[in-house]
Amino acid sequence: TLSLVWLRRDLRLHDNAALYHALKSGRPVLPVFIFDRTILDDLDDRRDRRVEFLVQEIDRLRDELAKMGSAILVRYGKPIDVWKELTGQYTIGDVFANYDYEVYAKERDKAVSELLAEKGIGFHTSKDQTIFDRDEVLSGKRTPYTVFTPYSRNWHGKLNTFYLKAYPTEQYTNQFWKTSVLTVPTLADMNFQPVGEPFPARTTSDKLLDTYDKTRDFPALPHSTSQLSMHLRFGTISVRDLARQANETDDKTFLNELCWRDFYFQVLDHFPHVERHSFRRQYDQIEWRNNEDEFDKWCRGETGYPIVDAGMRQLNTIGWMHNRVRMITASFLCKHLLIDWRWGEAYFGKKLRDYDLSANNGGWQWAAGSGTDAAPYFRVFNPDRQAKRFDAKQEYIRHWIPELDTKSYPQPMVEHSMARQRAVETYKKGLAK
Ligand code: FAD
Repeated sequence: TLSLVWLRRDLRLHDNAALYHALKSGRPVLPVFIFDRTILDDLDDRRDRRVEFLVQEIDRLRDELAKMGSAILVRYGKPIDVWKELTGQYTIGDVFANYDYEVYAKERDKAVSELLAEKGIGFHTSKDQTIFDRDEVLSGKRTPYTVFTPYSRNWHGKLNTFYLKAYPTEQYTNQFWKTSVLTVPTLADMNFQPVGEPFPARTTSDKLLDTYDKTRDFPALPHSTSQLSMHLRFGTISVRDLARQANETDDKTFLNELCWRDFYFQVLDHFPHVERHSFRRQYDQIEWRNNEDEFDKWCRGETGYPIVDAGMRQLNTIGWMHNRVRMITASFLCKHLLIDWRWGEAYFGKKLRDYDLSANNGGWQWAAGSGTDAAPYFRVFNPDRQAKRFDAKQEYIRHWIPELDTKSYPQPMVEHSMARQRAVETYKKGLAK
């Protein structure tokens, strides 16, 4: 009888809560990963960095496990079908997994846990991808926070070594099931092609964490931010390890970004309607212009606003965009073009290698003004002023727009003060309904 640990967005053997509990179960442990066709079949672009990264990281886990005489079982299919098959194929005592906050994932896990229960198999989930989740950081009235500042005060106040302690999985590696290496599907098996670019490094330096508050808003700097988002997204690093490292530096700005990450996970967990609707429902009443040609110009980085275009081209080229520029491009789409934030959210969702529903949704609703922590709707970013402040020498802009000074670079597609006024009036009208 085996204990299976179902890896999803926690692709590491080190400091992994579910794996730790599986290894402590006393039964031989076999890790499982499913390339989920529910998600993969929907991807139009068959060159997808995330799928490529998953294949690379699963191969790495396979090699690490092979060194211990063990293996990872990998399937390509719909999770419920795969679990039906696995329960017929293996004698399973319990299945362990780490908790996930997305609506789809919660429904998937519920269906799988019911299937397993019918067969007398336990399904156990643990907190792993956040420092605090669900009801661990609540307001004085025991309700979830909907504003970041008091949430973060409570979060930082509660933080102690207990919550940052690593799960010592390395002490139990003799519990891995001894078996020969099993086959792992390749990209081609799943009808994908490689993009073929290197992925960002898995680690960050103490130096970056020390200077982060001074560098993080300047997209032209080579080490402006950590670029760890993809690793956090897929759990190829442990958030506890990173938070511990950040907590040891004098400046807590970086740690606070991990707090934002937790914040948006708990928003999604407690208020699942945000996935399709504005957090503040009345923002669904805004009459978006939703002009498709204008949306295409924004997607391509041809708005005539250099900082917006540089950001979109960075996204289209490397699958990542600097946070400051994410804020500017998102605000431009919602306010200057009056396009529904969900269009932008979906476009980022296709392109971002670090795409994470909770942070992306939080970021977009922040930009649209419809979210938990939103700035007042009449505050409209001036893209040129943002560019002067955060890219004064136009280094970032010129890197992504080499033709900036030529005739082929377009004129601004909307005039700023007109667009600003139009946005304020449209929002006002929508909210008054
Ligand atoms: P760093 O500045 O080095 O931060 C370290 C880590 O903290 C990040 O890797 C990330 O996990 C977390 N973090 C930082 N800022 C935020 C934030 N505002 N909200 C939540 N977590 C944060 N982040 C994603 O991981 N996935 C997304 O899909 C995503 N979409 C976004 C969309 C918009 C419109 C906006 C404004 C922000 C979005 N963010 C998203 C948040 C942020 O832009 C990225 O996390 C960050 O740019 C990733 O780069 P980094 O790893 O160098 O970040």
